[in-house]
Parts: sequence; structure tokens; C-alpha cells
Amino acid sequence: MKNTFRGGIHPLRRIGEGKPLTNASSVFAVQPDCVVIPMGMHLGAPSTPCVEKGQRVKLGQVIATPIGALGLPVHASVSGEVLFVEERQQLRAAPELCIGIQNDKQDEWIELTPTGTVEQAEPAQIVAAVRNAGICGMGGAAFPTHVKMTIPEGKSAEVVILNGAECEPYLTADHRLMLESPQRIIDGFRLILKATGVSAGVVAIETNKPDAIETMRSCAAPYPEIRILPLKTKYPQGSEKQLIQVVTGREVSRGKLPIDAGALVFNVSTAAAICDAVTLGKPLVQRITTVTGCVASPGNLLLRIGTRYEEAVAACGGLSECAKKVFAGGPMTGLCAPDLTISITKATNGLVLFTAKQAKDMEESACIRCARCVQVCPIGLHPYQLRADFDRNDYETAKKHGLMDCVLCGACSYICPARRYLSSSFKAARDELAAKARR
Ligand code: SF4
Ligand code: SF4
Repeated sequence: MKNTFRGGIHPLRRIGEGKPLTNASSVFAVQPDCVVIPMGMHLGAPSTPCVEKGQRVKLGQVIATPIGALGLPVHASVSGEVLFVEERQQLRAAPELCIGIQNDKQDEWIELTPTGTVEQAEPAQIVAAVRNAGICGMGGAAFPTHVKMTIPEGKSAEVVILNGAECEPYLTADHRLMLESPQRIIDGFRLILKATGVSAGVVAIETNKPDAIETMRSCAAPYPEIRILPLKTKYPQGSEKQLIQVVTGREVSRGKLPIDAGALVFNVSTAAAICDAVTLGKPLVQRITTVTGCVASPGNLLLRIGTRYEEAVAACGGLSECAKKVFAGGPMTGLCAPDLTISITKATNGLVLFTAKQAKDMEESACIRCARCVQVCPIGLHPYQLRADFDRNDYETAKKHGLMDCVLCGACSYICPARRYLSSSFKAARDELAAKARR
């Protein structure tokens, strides 16, 4: 199997990357009692609320309007009454403006206005429908999708890659989506190809999902422009730069974007949301999230945006053991949630709850210069060197050593025998640089 990249790791190989806990669990929908919808779910300026406390809203109604080029509207994910418009603690350090809605469980939709079928929709209409539906990258990045679909002047793409790798341990949301809704994904992919004017599409799926490979292959069979590419199971295979390297043979150079290598990458969940937006006129109000770890019945849940983690956990039968750590996303790249009052966003593909035993923080010791971190880094960086820069607070030298190219995959931290806090240090350094730039 050649379809892979240099470096990488295979975490939890002996337990199937933690995926057997949920990969056979069909998706089931959850009706929350209320939702708390953050205004800053996408990369870009937070949206501005346009509803007030006490107001009645319908499902799919715009409740916040976009700001700036990277802005997106936010929609009510339930019908009911607005409970509050105020700041609440979410995953970021500072509280975020949120809109709370009491769910009347009537699912009273706004009037939906579909653009048309894949054949009918024009490129500009597709991009407009995607923006109006508030779609951002659902694989975790949350970059506004309509911006990615608009190729800048002077650039061109030869291939669009649909990311079905789902290399993060424990997560199976994309896997179930590919098994249960393949036609929505393929139609969404055809809409992406049409909007971008690119004639070749590749759906990339790791070989630990053979049923998804077969399902997607048979669904894509009538469309010769779409190819299904099985990838070796290796982490971080689903990282944008690694996918492009595997599919095109080209590397995205330092400081460059995927489009500079002639490629665009979208997630399979994003493609399904694009299909819903264009063909049904539906905004992005729900998503599949894997809820797993120390819960009674781990599973894949169709959750309304804004559902609090505690309601998602309750839908899985509650905690089976006391949870010490909650990862929003996954154990490798996810963020640690302070508690279970945090909300599901458009980019929350998983909640992984670990017991104290699973989450035990190892004491770090001195670097023994074994170079294992160098061997696994998919970008070709020297993580031990970056960490030395970080320890000296020498961020400028760290930048010269490739700090900004680090994809924060955590492979170096995972492999380090000295348990050095590598990727978390790099994230802290990048956050510090970003804060400095803002100041
Ligand atoms: S893997 Fe850990 S101990 Fe080995 S060189 Fe890298 S930082 Fe040092
Ligand atoms: S976290 Fe960064 S430095 Fe570490 S392996 Fe991943 S890309 Fe390399």
C-alpha cells in the first residue's frame, strides 16, 4: 500500500484505533431540551445576534448575521423561544456571546427555498447557497466553505479531495455518514466540483473502513470524474497537507496554501451539508458527532448545533465511570473542555471522555535526543528543537525552525519516550504569537 506519507504513527493499533466502540452504531437523532449556540463557531469574526430574549424563532431561521469576508450567518437549530443572548463559557479561554433557545420540540421549519438539483444549480448560486446556509469545514477546521470554494484570481486547482480519512482515534462520525448517506456526500461533491470548475475529484478513505470504501465506490460509479482512493491507515493521514501529498505527489511548501499545490480539500460531512443547502435549501443546523469513551452506550449522534455536551452524554446513557478529561474533537487534536456545559458546534465531530486512568498526565523528563519525534513528524520538523526554542521563549527562532508549519497533530508527543509536552508547547507558542500580533 503506497498511498501514504512520510512519518506518522499508528496510535491504539491493538484496539482498532478505539473505533470499534462506535463504528457499528447507526446514527440516531437527539432532541435537546434547549440549545446554547455560540456566535464564533467559524474561523472569522463572530456573527452578530439579530434576535432578542423572549422572541419566538423557527427552525432554520437566521438568528445572527455575518461580519466581514469570512463571516457566516447562524441559524436556529430548534424552534422555540429565545431564552438569552449573553456571554457563556465555551472552549475558548474567554466567554463567548451565545444565543440560548428553549426547544418546543415542534421542529417548525422556516419556508425552505432550494436552489435546485445538482444539474440545475449554477456555480455562483451554489457558492451563495453554501454561504447562506452558514457552512464551514465540519472536519474540525471551521473555515468558511464558500470562501474555500472561491478560487482566487491567478490560481487554479486540478483536483478536489474529499476527506473521508477520519484518522483521529475513536471517531467514527464520518464513517457512519459514508455508510448511511453516501448519495448526499457524492451529490455535495459534484456540487463542489461544479462550483470550482474542477473536473477531477478524489474521495480519500483509510483502509480501516473497507465497508465505507465499497459503499462510496458503488455510489460514485455513475460519475467517472470521481475516484475513490483507499489510504493506508496511519495518523495524521487526514491532515490537509498529507492528503494533498498522497493524492497529487506534491508538497504544500512552507507558508503556502493547498491551492498553491493545485488542490482543494473538503470534508465528507461538509459535502453532505452542501447537498442539503443547495438541493433542499436547508441551513446547517445539525451534525453527526461521535460520543464515546466512558459513557454507558457510546454512539454516533445526530445533534442540533448548540446541544450541550451533558445532553449528548445523557443520550448515551450517561457516564459509565467518572470522566477526568473531555476531548472536543478527539484525543490527538481535540481541545480539552472545562466541563459538560459546553456546546456542540458545526465543527464538533467527536466527544471523547476519558477516565482518570486513561487520561493520566505523565511527568515529563529531559530529552534523551533519541530523534523519534523527528522520525514521525509528517512535516519534517525537528520537534525537540522547537521545544528547546519554546523553553527559551525564543519564538522568532522557533518560527525559523518551522513553528508555523506544524499541523499540531501530536504525533511527536505521542511517540516521545521522555513524555515531553511537545505539540501543546507549540500550540501555546502559536497562541502567544497570535495574541502578540493582535496587540
Ligand atoms: S522524542 Fe522526545 S526524547 Fe526523543 S528527541 Fe524527541 S523530544 Fe527528545
Ligand atoms: S505536532 Fe507538529 S512538530 Fe509534532 S509531529 Fe505534528 S507537525 Fe510535527
